[in-house]
Amino acid sequence: MQIEMLENWNPVPDQPLLIAGPCSAETEEQLTETALALVANGVKIIRAGVWKPRTRPGSFEGKGEEALQWFQKIRQQVPADVKFAVEVANAEHVQLALRYGIDILWVGARSSVNPFTMQEIADSLKGVDIPVLVKNPINPDLALWIGALERLAGAGITKLAAIHRGFSSHKKTKFRNVPSWQLPLELKREFPELPIICDPSHIAGVRELVPELSQKAMDINFDGLMIESHCNPSEAWSDASQQVTPSRLKEIVDQLRIPTKGVADKEFNSHLVELREKIDQLDREIFDLVAERMAVVDQIGAFKKKSNVTVFQINRWNEILKTRSEWADELNLDHELMEAVFNQIHESSIKRQMNIMAKKEADV
Ligand code: PEP
Ligand code: MN
Repeated sequence: MQIEMLENWNPVPDQPLLIAGPCSAETEEQLTETALALVANGVKIIRAGVWKPRTRPGSFEGKGEEALQWFQKIRQQVPADVKFAVEVANAEHVQLALRYGIDILWVGARSSVNPFTMQEIADSLKGVDIPVLVKNPINPDLALWIGALERLAGAGITKLAAIHRGFSSHKKTKFRNVPSWQLPLELKREFPELPIICDPSHIAGVRELVPELSQKAMDINFDGLMIESHCNPSEAWSDASQQVTPSRLKEIVDQLRIPTKGVADKEFNSHLVELREKIDQLDREIFDLVAERMAVVDQIGAFKKKSNVTVFQINRWNEILKTRSEWADELNLDHELMEAVFNQIHESSIKRQMNIMAKKEADV
């Protein structure tokens, strides 16, 4: 892929790329008020969705072409170096966005997942020379993300960037979309010249997490941020819980520590994040397994109750200690650690079964 350096199209070349604006352009007043406040706070690239990919039909799906006219009016009220960005999901969106002079396009997570859509967008961009940013596909598939970027590169787009917005997961986490930082880091390793922007708003799902995610992105050497900002976040027609006011956005950006360390430190940081990510995943698996074990413990409890058998059985406990101690040897693990862990697990299992025993027949 031929990729132009970010400095060549970042309106503030010596700083991380910053894109901010509402999730959706809702009304002319809302878009204008938000955009002017953001520009007054130093933002040079204003975003807003005018076609909204909603999970269920019937939700607000964007104002389309009408909202593109609002952008044109706002442009006349701001300095000439302010740029405007919208999401496109098909060839018609591209044509309309270009007709209304939109400066930067991005492809959303529900589009980058689909090679047909990506090819259609790429074909409609042949001969066009504007920045196009590609969000990661909703599922954690690095090849699909790269493929989407390659299709645009194949159409001659050189001002390319990737946006990391987290991945869907069936597991419940504190994030709306799990960050899985190792994926964008792998992308960076494969294409070191490709700018990677973080979208902490869609990772977080709640505004309280946006500052720490933004800082993390800076710590691991991301090239910029896309943050959702709305003049009245709680009243937003989409993504109300994750948007921040323009003044809060300024605070978040002003408080960021932008590391100016040497390359070695940055590599060290990225590697550390990757390894910690692995630890997080493994710990999660440990928790899932403990939960699974406890469910079996409960089944045994109910079974013992039915057959009127005591909860604690010394033979079984001795057998557990013996086999676990052998497993510790096999895996070269510390005996003390394994004993401590198993004592706790066993104690908790006994407690659960005692509770089951104590419950009235009808509750079990
Ligand atoms: C958006 O940026 O408003 C959006 C729809 O994001 P995503 O494609 O990441 O879900
Ligand atoms: Mn949104």
